[in-house]
Formats: sequence, C-alpha cells, structure tokens
Amino acid sequence: MTTNTTTTPQPQNQMAVSTYQKLRGHLAVLKLDAAAEALPSVLQTAGDEEWSMTQMLEHLLAIEVSATEARRLAGRLRFACLPTPATLDGFDYDAAPGVDRHLIRELGTCAYLESATNVLLIGPPGTGKTHLAVGLARAAVHAGYRTYVTTAADLAARCHKAAIEGRWATCMRFFAGPTLLVIDELGYLPLPAEAASALFQVVAQRYLKTSIVITTNRSVAEWGEVLGDTTVAAAMLDRLLHRSVVLKLDGDSYRLRDHHARSQNQRTATTPTRRTLE
Ligand code: ADP
Ligand code: MG
Repeated sequence: MTTNTTTTPQPQNQMAVSTYQKLRGHLAVLKLDAAAEALPSVLQTAGDEEWSMTQMLEHLLAIEVSATEARRLAGRLRFACLPTPATLDGFDYDAAPGVDRHLIRELGTCAYLESATNVLLIGPPGTGKTHLAVGLARAAVHAGYRTYVTTAADLAARCHKAAIEGRWATCMRFFAGPTLLVIDELGYLPLPAEAASALFQVVAQRYLKTSIVITTNRSVAEWGEVLGDTTVAAAMLDRLLHRSVVLKLDGDSYRLRDHHARSQNQRTATTPTRRTLE
C-alpha cells in the first residue's frame, strides 16, 4: 500500500491513488488551478467532516469560482485605468452640500448602465467631480462592467494619433467597447475642431447603447465655446442629455479647503511661539 502523508489524503488503495491522480490531471487540463491546488485539503476536510460528495464538489468549485472572479476583477481594474483611489464611500457629503446623496447611492448600484443613461458632473475645480466619476467607475468595475476612464484631452490625442496612423476605425471601436466610458475634464483645455469632431463621434456611436460619465467645469451653455463649434456642441449635448442625470457641484474647492485647514493649523501652532517672542 502506498502512503503519502504530506500532500495528498491517504488513499485506501492503489485504485484510489490512480483516481486521485486522474482527477488532478483533469483539473490541470481544464486549467482549474485553484481547485487543483485546494484538492488535497478539500478532500481531507471532506473526509474529516464527513461531507457528502455534493458538498465536497460544491466546495471545490466554489474555490475555483472565487479565484476566477478575483482574476477577472483584477483584469477589469487594470483595463479601467482608474487615476485615483477615490471611492463613492469615501465621498464626504457634508463638504458638498449641493450633492444629493440618495442620487449618488442610486447611481452606485449601476442600474443606470442598463438603460445607457449618461451622467454629467458640472462644477468648478476642486468640487469632487473627478472623485465621483472615479467612484462611479470603480463601482461599475466591481459590479462586473467593462469600464474605461480617460480625459477629454487624452481621448482627443489618442484619436488624433490613430487618424495619422490609419487606425481610426480601431480607435472608434475601442471607445465604443466599454459599458461605461468616463471622460474627465472637458473644458479645461480648448479642443481643436478635429478633437471636437472625434469626441462627437465617440458620443454618437455610444448613444442609447452604452453610458458616458463626463465631468466639466463649464456649463452646457458654454460647450459651443469649448468645442469651438456651436452646431457640434448642440448635436453632442442632444445625445448626451437625452437620457441623462445632471449633477451640479458647487461650493468651495476641497483642495483649497484642505490647504486652508493646514494653513490654519500652522497658524495656531506657531502663534504661541510668536507670542513668547514678543
Ligand atoms: P474636481 O475634479 O472637481 O476638480 P476632485 O474630484 O479632483 O475635484 O477633488 C479634488 C480632491 O479633493 C481630490 O483628492 C478629491 O478626492 C477630494 N474631494 C473633493 N471633494 C470631496 C468630497 N466631497 N469628499 C471627499 N473628498 C473630496
Ligand atoms: Mg477633476
């Protein structure tokens, strides 16, 4: 009788050893690596705790399913190119009085993605637009949706390069692909006519099919100026707003708030010293 006390449960006889080895072989061929790795310990526990065969199989496959899900999530996260660690949970609503927390929570469920609804985040710099956009993107990635985050300037540059290199169609397919496309920072830099047209095409091909979250510091009335063409701006807004949620962010910059708080702390910390010097 073969005894193996280290890696495998002790089989009763030669046939059990051979069956065990065949099973490992099947798992390897099917590339069920996590299940293969967990097999000895699962068999051991199944024996010790007198699991039924169904329980044992369920347990083994659950291990493989978790590993597959974790691998897919990591892949979606890599693809999404999230620029910051921001999350919806980390958003401080007290610092953003105009923001409807119920609406953000609702958007956090990702239900809007099913109806290809767009989200426009409009407000001055530092009010949390990118934070919310990245938070929405992260929620979408975790809910299993293919997501991609870019800026208006990067999207324009990429389309420009693709046009020069004769890859226009591939580039358009790329931006049509993700279920959620986040376009950050529209309006910070003026867009040349060619970039405005690329942006319009991206919006047009996603219209009523997949969602866009767009952040901008300019009101929609100013988009003609941003895009350098009122007709393109009107056509783009028409599609973006048809099925959309518009969120206006207002108030003081969170960045400057931090800065003011730090300066305030420094002042309080240094005041007694000054006094003693006086
Ligand atoms: P915007 O894109 O509107 O210019 P950001 O989203 O980049 O602003 O916010 C600037 C910084 O302040 C980021 O680090 C962001 O995480 C943080 N921030 C802004 N608003 C909030 C908020 N309400 N709660 C938590 N952090 C915030
Ligand atoms: Mg921003």
